[in-house]
Amino acid sequence: MRKNIVAGNWKMNTTVPEGVKLAEEVNEALKGIEPKCDVVICVPFTHLVSVNNVITEKGKLGLGAENCADHKSGAYTGEVSAPMVASTGAGYVILGHSERRQYYGETAETLREKVALALENGLTPIFCIGEVLAEREADKHFDVVKAQIVDGLFNLSAEDFGKIILAYEPVWAIGTGKTATDDQAQEMHAFIRQTIAEKYGKEVADNTSILYGGSCKPSNARQIFAKPDVDGGLIGGASLKCADFMGIVEAFD
Ligand code: PEP
Repeated sequence: MRKNIVAGNWKMNTTVPEGVKLAEEVNEALKGIEPKCDVVICVPFTHLVSVNNVITEKGKLGLGAENCADHKSGAYTGEVSAPMVASTGAGYVILGHSERRQYYGETAETLREKVALALENGLTPIFCIGEVLAEREADKHFDVVKAQIVDGLFNLSAEDFGKIILAYEPVWAIGTGKTATDDQAQEMHAFIRQTIAEKYGKEVADNTSILYGGSCKPSNARQIFAKPDVDGGLIGGASLKCADFMGIVEAFD
């Protein structure tokens, strides 16, 4: 059966000492509880090794990067490859975040390369999809999300697709304080699961974790996570404060 997952996306926030302190706080908070979900923190590349070194609750707290390169190695100045990420001890990588699609021109083609390299190196991709406001207002949100899944992931075998975590993040809800309603999230998550079922069958679809992302916070997480096709959250702003992040983790009880 699919897992419930709460994953933090720190984005380009915190210096290394600040990030290590935040990771220590989350690690400490997890010592006292048995979370009903997998907990992951995705941190800047510069932080991975230091953060990995302070995670003692390896069974409860996973570590991820926020991106990786679309090449394995070589003359790509400034890039960080999937094998490099894996060598830090990280187990996850966010791919296709809307900020990367929008500001860094990531396309389905580069994302297919990144997904393949992540999987080859034992990393679990957290693959982001989601429409912008104009697309929702034009009633194109289902088509847009379907195209992102088909173009970015449907080249995978069923076995490899089974290793992917999806994150539905309506772009209009990211960092805006405007959360999708629980019904809007459920409607899209059910559509995503149906899309997966049509390609890979019901079993693969039922086993795929689909996270919601977009202004998720302790006060709304419980209601959103209660929906049958919502399997947790990808958390931006609220993952930068241990108490808020843990409040979301504890929405699964
Ligand atoms: C994100 O960018 O993945 C995200 C969900 O951000 P926020 O929670 O800040 O909306």
